Amino acid sequence: MLQKVDFATPKTLLTYEELQAYDPESESWQKQFARRYTHHSQLDGVLNHIENVNETVYSKFAIAVTPYMAKLMDRDDPNCPIRLQYLPTFHEETKPGFATMLDQLGEEGDTVPGTSIVHRYPRRVLFLVSNTCATLCRFCTRKRMVSQPKGSVHKDEIERSIDYIANNKNIEDVLLSGGDPLTFTDERLDEILGAIRTRAPHVRFLRMGSRMVVQLPTRVTPELCAVLEKHRVQMVNIHINHHKEITPLLRSRVKMLQKAGIMLGLQTVCLKGVNDSVEVMRELFMQTIEMGVRPYYVYSTDMVEGAHHFIVPHRRMLELYEGLRGWISGPAVPTFIVDGLGGLGKLPIIPSYVREEALADGSGTTVKCRNYKGMTVEMPGLGQDFSLPTTSN
Ligand SMILES: *Cc1c(COP(=O)(O)O)cnc(C)c1O
Ligand code: SF4
Repeated sequence: MLQKVDFATPKTLLTYEELQAYDPESESWQKQFARRYTHHSQLDGVLNHIENVNETVYSKFAIAVTPYMAKLMDRDDPNCPIRLQYLPTFHEETKPGFATMLDQLGEEGDTVPGTSIVHRYPRRVLFLVSNTCATLCRFCTRKRMVSQPKGSVHKDEIERSIDYIANNKNIEDVLLSGGDPLTFTDERLDEILGAIRTRAPHVRFLRMGSRMVVQLPTRVTPELCAVLEKHRVQMVNIHINHHKEITPLLRSRVKMLQKAGIMLGLQTVCLKGVNDSVEVMRELFMQTIEMGVRPYYVYSTDMVEGAHHFIVPHRRMLELYEGLRGWISGPAVPTFIVDGLGGLGKLPIIPSYVREEALADGSGTTVKCRNYKGMTVEMPGLGQDFSLPTTSN
């Protein structure tokens, strides 16, 4: 049985003129979902200088762009940071000098058989409920499932996943992701979240990752917020890579989620040409924290097939981090992460500001510190472990 999402609506694609007049709030999110552009030729004219990519790109990864997202793209600039994220290029067909895969994070090896649960870390699980998204990102880490090569996530698979969570009392944190869990109807989300809450009272933290909030903000409705609030979803992580994606409509829907008592976090992928600059990152994270959304993770681009042209070198990621720490508000600085190949998991990318070194005379260690401006100080006291007398005399 396929997932029940009402995508059955007019297939009429909007022309450039219609798109200019288009109000995304004028129709349901399902209707807008059905108006997505799904071939690069359909965007010709809506946008200029569309790259006429080889049809073979579709065998690896489909194309889907919501009208709302298309409207945010620069009509004439092929290097528009939003266009780069969503439109295919010939780079996807070229071979990089290292191995790329479709399951580069080794998630299938950590999947509980018969379920869509990735159980890699102690006490928490990743629950891949949906295998589709509103707009497909060219660098997607889950291309293997998001482009729908094997159909929808099976209803039985979701049932067995909930059984697994219910039967494993040590699971205290469940992260719903995909794909995008918000591609489900409110009714289906109500069923899934309700089953988790009633059958697994040991789950303390229930969170969700969704880019749909950004790609099709009208998905966030008072009805959806009521479902999330009812089942005490504590956190929703949204995904933004450039501040051009932040609009008044997005701000209003973020506020709606916040009013339902949900903590919002931001996930970003570090992408060459899109946000690999200190200026862009500072602006993105400051605009995000202004909305009350806490920047959480910046991921390096995964070594997934057809995404190598987005990879920002590790040393550059360190520089970007250094351009943030100390220079903008502390709560606006996210943790930079590389996801280890083959299932090693999330590894923080942290420049070294504090370093312990052996003293030349062998008598112990000292600690050398460097601040965000490059000024240094040595703190020998931090290299010692003072044993304190038990009384003052
Ligand atoms: C990212 C991830 C999580 C959640 O990790 P946090 O650091 O707790 O946010 C859980 N499971 C898997 C497999 C993940 O990739
Ligand atoms: S929103 Fe996430 S899961 Fe969906 S296509 Fe983009 S990167 Fe992939």
